[in-house]
Amino acid sequence: MLRLPWFEHRAPRSVAEAAKILAGEGPRAMLVAGGTDLLPNMKRRHQAPRVLVSLRQVDELKKLNGTFGAGLTLTEVVRSEKTPIALRQAAAQVATPHLRNMGTLGGNLCLDTRCTYYNQSYEWRKAIDFCLKKDGTVCWVATASKRCVAVSSTDTAPALIALDAVIKLSSAKGEREIPVAALYQNDGIDYLSRTPDEILTEVRVPAGWKSTYWKLRRRGSFDFPILGVAAAAKLDGDIVSEARIALGAVASRPFLIDKASEFLKGKRLTDEVIAEAAALVANRAKPMDNTDMDLYWRKEVADDFAAYALRELRGDDMRETRQRIARYQPAA
Ligand SMILES: Cc1cc2nc3c(=O)[nH]c(=O)nc-3n(C[C@H](O)[C@H](O)[C@H](O)COP(=O)(O)OP(=O)(O)OC[C@H]3O[C@@H](n4cnc5c(N)ncnc54)[C@H](O)[C@@H]3O)c2cc1C
Repeated sequence: MLRLPWFEHRAPRSVAEAAKILAGEGPRAMLVAGGTDLLPNMKRRHQAPRVLVSLRQVDELKKLNGTFGAGLTLTEVVRSEKTPIALRQAAAQVATPHLRNMGTLGGNLCLDTRCTYYNQSYEWRKAIDFCLKKDGTVCWVATASKRCVAVSSTDTAPALIALDAVIKLSSAKGEREIPVAALYQNDGIDYLSRTPDEILTEVRVPAGWKSTYWKLRRRGSFDFPILGVAAAAKLDGDIVSEARIALGAVASRPFLIDKASEFLKGKRLTDEVIAEAAALVANRAKPMDNTDMDLYWRKEVADDFAAYALRELRGDDMRETRQRIARYQPAA
């Protein structure tokens, strides 16, 4: 049985109180919301904070009035009528119902990066002399790499990037707002631009986008994404006036595909336009061999998934394709 290391537990009632604790404790402290990512990580000794600052009793993080509080559970996000489609589809496909009842939007956005050589017990990692992300010096995925290539596996981030959402970060020093895309850095270790004393408090999603999220995973019931494609568009009749396509789970950060977004502007979503935009998306998908399923196949299907997303935005009925993907069982 994997045991948690010892830690001190703090339970502030407000963001200001939590921020004060973080400022006072410095790097000894970490935030915990639902704990569905952090606590298993602590059991595997990926993180060993001396102080856990729980956000569960901070009611101001659970508001849903025009903005989404970071402390809302994923189930609450899915159930809200105010949730845009891509965000709902992404949140609904995170983990399992139990985990979605515990896991929060803020925790999902700040989710640790993942890798075959990292998401293992301490003993397993010790047996390979650890890895660059934690306790070691070599990246076993790309041994010549100076950078950790652990992969971003958050489902909601690509959806929120496509929706052009903005987050608020609060600390004892004050508040700042940044686009969701700017929260992420392409570095498996230093994957967030958030400083350790900052609390993600809310997410603001602008209105007016038609949106969708497509997720590739081994099991349709639950699994981390190994590819996530989110697409959002503003349509003027059947002409795209603005579009944003984001990819997740193919790099250490989720990111916007500017070229595809630009290409779609002013165009009708014909089969030819969709095929060209999907090729631009697939061109930017450069998955590494550090998650589930064959790397080359994952790259190949990025094209299909981008096309599915765009066809759904066009108004095609994609329910059968979604069901087929959910049922898909790759050969062992
Ligand atoms: C079996 C299993 C399957 C899973 N499948 C998926 C999946 O398919 N897709 C997916 O995206 N995730 C998946 N997860 C991961 C996780 O359950 C979700 O991402 C969940 O949303 C994390 O939220 P949390 O509140 O539990 O985060 P926590 O574990 O509490 O925290 C995660 C990280 O975020 C930080 N944090 C939390 N809240 C804040 C805040 N407000 N401000 C700043 N930092 C904060 C914590 O310090 C920690 O570093 C899975 C987990 C398990 C165990």
